[in-house]
Amino acid sequence: MVDSERSQRYRNRMQRKKEVIDAAIARADREQGLLLVHTGNGKGKSSSAFGMIARALGHDMHVGVAQFIKGRSDTGEEAFFRKQDNVIWHVLGEGFTWDTQNLERDTETAQRGWKIVQEMLRDPSFDLIILDELTYPLKFGWLDLTIVLNDLKNRPPMQHVVITGRGAPDTLCEIADTVTEMTDIKHAYRAGIQAQKGIDL
Ligand code: ATP
Ligand code: MG
Repeated sequence: MVDSERSQRYRNRMQRKKEVIDAAIARADREQGLLLVHTGNGKGKSSSAFGMIARALGHDMHVGVAQFIKGRSDTGEEAFFRKQDNVIWHVLGEGFTWDTQNLERDTETAQRGWKIVQEMLRDPSFDLIILDELTYPLKFGWLDLTIVLNDLKNRPPMQHVVITGRGAPDTLCEIADTVTEMTDIKHAYRAGIQAQKGIDL
């Protein structure tokens, strides 16, 4: 095939692609606060959510973070984002007792945490809220899924929320606008490499 023929075909193909994309962009003309879920067993759920904090701060937006993890405050993202004026960062897992399996205490800790989240979900000055590892208190029944779904549905219309964690409940995915499942193809941990600063924490 001569070169000019090839480039003509390429131009035609790209022109058709552009028309399809332009039409899709024209159709997507609404603005609204989004609910995103990052689930699955692969790596990248929390770090992708934290990446959106950087995006939001670049637009002078206000961000709230709630981490439902066993009390731990040595991650790089927490150290970095806590220094930002527009970020409020809560670690709500202090007191989770995986070891002693004290259901009452874990439930109490999670519900105390959810009260703090509820305040953020009622406050339109938060443009973006990250609920990191929220799926665990849901999975273990520490939080009432119906209450959580209801609070999420009734949040301010322009507020974005990102929820991370493995095993996201179907009902949560159903009300979400964007759901991403991270697939675990390979993880360095299984080759005996411990969590690395800057990559895993
Ligand atoms: P990250 O915080 O790196 O985005 P994540 O939020 O997707 O990871 P979590 O299930 O919250 O994953 O686990 C947090 C920690 O476990 C991180 O140090 C991460 O590297 C590690 N991890 C994530 N996925 C896997 C996996 N499939 N096997 C082993 N370790 C994993
Ligand atoms: Mg995570």
